[in-house]
Amino acid sequence: MTVHRGHPVTNARHAALHSPLPAHERALPVDTAWLRRRARLFAAVSDRPFHLVVDLQAYASVTGLTFYPHYAAQVYTGPEDARLTVPLMAVNLSMVTTREEADRALAHETMHLVVPSYGHKAAAFAKAQLLLDEVGQLVGAAA
Ligand SMILES: [Zn+2]
Repeated sequence: MTVHRGHPVTNARHAALHSPLPAHERALPVDTAWLRRRARLFAAVSDRPFHLVVDLQAYASVTGLTFYPHYAAQVYTGPEDARLTVPLMAVNLSMVTTREEADRALAHETMHLVVPSYGHKAAAFAKAQLLLDEVGQLVGAAA
């Protein structure tokens, strides 16, 4: 379980994540279809599949966790003795409103799935940036 929005250093590192989207796309709004396509790219480059959940009530009821309105995103890997094969990633579309914010949230949460022990250290955000760069290369290669 992870939450991002907290310590000022963490917030600054999160805000410094650079989306590979072209400048004119970064401020575009996020819809579920776009977010799902984008999430699949992060799952592909990280080699870590996850289920994207945007229904936060369903997420809370499945996980037993409270998803507070100020949370932007969170991953859930299941209880310690019964990890999910495919973890859940909840994204709060009322907090994550632009594609740039969505890229940061997807990179941040995917990073937690790939390197959970990194916490919010600088290395964690370096990994998140690497994932963003790889998504950019994947999209660039396909274009
Ligand atoms: Zn986090």
